[in-house]
Amino acid sequence: MTDFKLAPLPYDKKALQGFLSDNTLTFHHDKHLNAYVETANKLKKGTAFEDKSVEEIIKNAEPGPLFNNTAQIFNHEFYFKCLSPSPAKQQVPLVLQDKINAAFGSLEAFLEKFRSSAVGNFGSGWTWLCLNEDKLEIVNTSNAANPLTLGKKPLLTVDVWEHAYYLDFQNRRADYLKEFCEHINWEFVSSNL
Ligand code: MN
Repeated sequence: MTDFKLAPLPYDKKALQGFLSDNTLTFHHDKHLNAYVETANKLKKGTAFEDKSVEEIIKNAEPGPLFNNTAQIFNHEFYFKCLSPSPAKQQVPLVLQDKINAAFGSLEAFLEKFRSSAVGNFGSGWTWLCLNEDKLEIVNTSNAANPLTLGKKPLLTVDVWEHAYYLDFQNRRADYLKEFCEHINWEFVSSNL
């Protein structure tokens, strides 16, 4: 069996200070994500999914603990890549900008809708920008659920589980989302098109 491995954070744990602290990233990556990796490895052992990839398990496993823990590996690795320590008014690549304009009117209108969807995503879950056929759409999922199971291609995600922001923002999810939108790695989002 090939065990899933904990992917390293794509930046230093201090790289997002002012938005997410070293403490938040340590708990989120080293404790929460690591627990999903270890649990998924235990659960897939001896099953038909033992040597399947994360994506294959997400697309084929029944709802339940193996799906949940494996989807959380995908969701977290994807989320960490969506953040940039040096957004410095990064330009949104042109092809992506055109698609955003076509679907939402403007980048500002998209970000407002993305934030309000994420604020309204009740309980624990994820808010996504997805490509559905050729059109962009915002999708809210609960717990570990993932747009890959809906046949949609994820481009951007934000984790709205409280563990993602509580140490830095407590109950202020809207403030976390405002900062999140200032730290989006648009190059990564665009590379998923
Ligand atoms: Mn999380």
